[in-house]
Amino acid sequence: MNILILGSGGREHALAWKIAASPLTDKLYCAPGNAGIAREAECVALDVNDHAAVIAFCKDKKIGLVVVGPEAPLCAGIVDDLEAAGIKAFGPTKWAAWLEGSKGFTKDLCKANNIPTAAYQRFKGAAAAKDYVHARGAPIVVKADGLAAGKGVVVAQTIKEAEAAIDMMFGGGLGEPAWEIVIEDCLVGEEASFFALCDGETAIALASAQDHKRVGDGDTGPNTGGMGAYSPAPVMTAEMNRRVMDEIVLPTVRALKKAGAPYKGVLFAGLMITKDGPQLIEYNVRFGDPECQVLMLRMMSDLVPAMIAACDGQLKNFDLRWYAEAALTVVMASKGYPGSYGKGSVIEGLDEAAQVEGAEIFHAGTVVGHRADGDHILANGGRVLDVCARGKSVREAQARAYEAVDRIKWPEGFCRRDIGWRAVERER
Ligand code: AMP
Repeated sequence: MNILILGSGGREHALAWKIAASPLTDKLYCAPGNAGIAREAECVALDVNDHAAVIAFCKDKKIGLVVVGPEAPLCAGIVDDLEAAGIKAFGPTKWAAWLEGSKGFTKDLCKANNIPTAAYQRFKGAAAAKDYVHARGAPIVVKADGLAAGKGVVVAQTIKEAEAAIDMMFGGGLGEPAWEIVIEDCLVGEEASFFALCDGETAIALASAQDHKRVGDGDTGPNTGGMGAYSPAPVMTAEMNRRVMDEIVLPTVRALKKAGAPYKGVLFAGLMITKDGPQLIEYNVRFGDPECQVLMLRMMSDLVPAMIAACDGQLKNFDLRWYAEAALTVVMASKGYPGSYGKGSVIEGLDEAAQVEGAEIFHAGTVVGHRADGDHILANGGRVLDVCARGKSVREAQARAYEAVDRIKWPEGFCRRDIGWRAVERER
């Protein structure tokens, strides 16, 4: 079949790499894509916000499956519109995507279904929110409702910090004034990313992963979209996986089905593994970026039939197989990220880097630049490259990934040097 992927980051490059390898894929398109994705798929300049244009393209190119990468088009209802036009699409409907679109919605769903999550309350005004913070004490977590690209959360260490966060969010510090905030208890433990493929009725777990959100070594500095990831996550033992499915994922799938909004697609649970077991921090309604990159490297099964089974409600008897090897990815970003950064610098050494044993390089933000001395790969975003590798252990994958990083000549870029440190320490 012909397949269209929507998105332009490292996650979509990894999906394109995996989908292009499927014997079921005839022609693969990606909109808008990037310079790396262009190796796997034909990149097309479609505006994903223009659903009618996406539908017209699918009809013209006889697209049998649309795979939606990022959350924004899902929350905007692109799956609803594609399905209404008779086009199969992988991802949740607008209603089901509220799991990511509204923190208050998700917290209420958890409460109603006994899904473990931090105690919380929702607020529409600053005064009541501050009273709650005073009553509850610090540390405490303040979250703006709605999509905020990872910037809408403040883990406040003091009551003063929490009050400042409340004023900032209601005062428009995130762009628009928050219409609602959620305040919740601070959970203590180790974070992990859990992914499940859902078909509206049932779910199957994917491999576990952990990411590094902070920009600096030792998990310091401001939060980012993710500076690296690895799989498997040692904290996710078989027993913990079972508990997450039984206590968190399956009750959510059942609750949404009962509410008339069956969840199809990838459900990404951000977890805190506490001493009492797993707690849900948040849901995302798509693959994590950069977790997707390491999952695709470890997936042995063909992804395309799994996605079709999820769309068709046929996951019940489905099984996915994984390579036992570990995978790790190091994000190379433009200097200045997550603040302001330049674009257009030349990246060299990618072919040499790709020759490192077990290495695979996905592009997150690149473009081809045509210059007098030939074509070059240019940086075109904050997060620019995902330098990945497989290995017998996280430690071996880490060593290979950094060997590949060191072959890349890009003075305007930087990366963390300690991706995977927790897992490597455990392996020792
Ligand atoms: P979120 O956007 O909800 O994933 O939150 C971003 C980050 O804030 C998470 O990855 C956690 O590190 C942290 N965080 C969010 N909620 C809590 C919580 N209740 N307790 C502790 N840390 C949290």
